[in-house]
Amino acid sequence: MKYSEIMVRYGELSTKGKNRKSFIMQLAQNVRQALSDFPEIKIHADRDRMHLLLNGADSALVIPKLAKIFGIQNFSPSIRIEKDVQKLKDAVQAIMKEVYTGKETFKIIAKRSDHDFELTSNELNQTLGNAVVDIFPDIEAQMRKPDIPLRVEIRRDAAYLSYETIKGAGGLPVGTSGKGMLMLSGGIDSPVAGYFAMKRGVEIEAVHFASPPYTSEQALQKAKDLTAKLTPYVGKIEFIEVPFTEIQEEIKKNIPQGYWMTITRRMMLRLTDEIRRLRHGLIILNGESLGQVASQTLQSMVAINEVTNTPIIRPVATMDKLEIIEVAEQIDTFELSVQPFEDCCTIFAPPQPKTRPRLDKVHQYEERLPIEEMIERALSGLKMETIHTATEAEQVEEFADLL
Ligand code: ATP
Ligand code: MG
Repeated sequence: MKYSEIMVRYGELSTKGKNRKSFIMQLAQNVRQALSDFPEIKIHADRDRMHLLLNGADSALVIPKLAKIFGIQNFSPSIRIEKDVQKLKDAVQAIMKEVYTGKETFKIIAKRSDHDFELTSNELNQTLGNAVVDIFPDIEAQMRKPDIPLRVEIRRDAAYLSYETIKGAGGLPVGTSGKGMLMLSGGIDSPVAGYFAMKRGVEIEAVHFASPPYTSEQALQKAKDLTAKLTPYVGKIEFIEVPFTEIQEEIKKNIPQGYWMTITRRMMLRLTDEIRRLRHGLIILNGESLGQVASQTLQSMVAINEVTNTPIIRPVATMDKLEIIEVAEQIDTFELSVQPFEDCCTIFAPPQPKTRPRLDKVHQYEERLPIEEMIERALSGLKMETIHTATEAEQVEEFADLL
């Protein structure tokens, strides 16, 4: 049966009081952006729900895209039927023939916003329920938690039938919480951190440090491909490549190796913070996870964090590696992340980084570096690229895997 509209139920939006309006507007904008391949779809958002009038668009292509948009609790594709009792009975029977396999319980849930309609909600429940029993005499009606809840809405313009509720991505619409700069390496953790940030409404821009020729073209491409994996939730993401070779060479030349890592990270953070300022971002996000490696002890975090007052959110900080991997698999970044291309930190990784760096030493060593000039030069070599979402065919395939 052909769906004519999709009814969308908002997620946490409903509890946001006076912010509700801007939340709904942002969600409508995100939906429009994610469905830009379907200009025929009309979006009507009111304070309780959003209706997508498909106007002939193929729901099988629209549904997987919709399932990734944050701020949606769930949604129901529905069929538009003329407001005629016989036609409603026929439609209900046709749906049940399609979905009933002989085991499920069912319930008709009728609702009437058009009070001029000839039957009341109760009468509709009975009449349409009987129509189902007529064709399946053994079927059981179940009032609580039926397997097939068949919803019938009588509105002014027509009646709408739906029997499926598809789980949405939850969270808050991306953009409602402002913008953050995601420090994106080629690893497992930072894409997952970006996913969690977007889920809570943060718009992200990806900042990636590359040190050619020590790091390869493939390593850079991998970071871009990971960014592409994060775009279905938003449509597109800005990718900012920072030239980091000179800085790493200077550090290696002038700093005792126990402090390479700390000072490298401090440079990354300084640069990310400058880029954040230029791009009008509010916060910085990274994929640090407590205790994973030397740079991720609390003492290291304190020493690295000292260069800025900008809030740094670390969405995966307290997660176990296995928990992070589980999410990486779910968002399909894991396979890409484990591809073996050296990144700038691996190549310059000292054999014995300090796990408890001392700030007085850090300050003393940094005096050997022309920090301001290095930052200026790196900023003058930034490269920006807008990464768009993967092709439709890829997305449909991905969704099929989830089902
Ligand atoms: P990931 O799996 O995200 O690479 P990791 O466990 O390998 O993390 P580190 O390599 O110590 O940990 O990096 C910690 C965080 O620093 C990363 O999650 C990322 O946010 C940031 N980072 C590291 N390398 C880069 C890079 N080349 N470009 C941008 N950010 C980076
Ligand atoms: Mg890494």
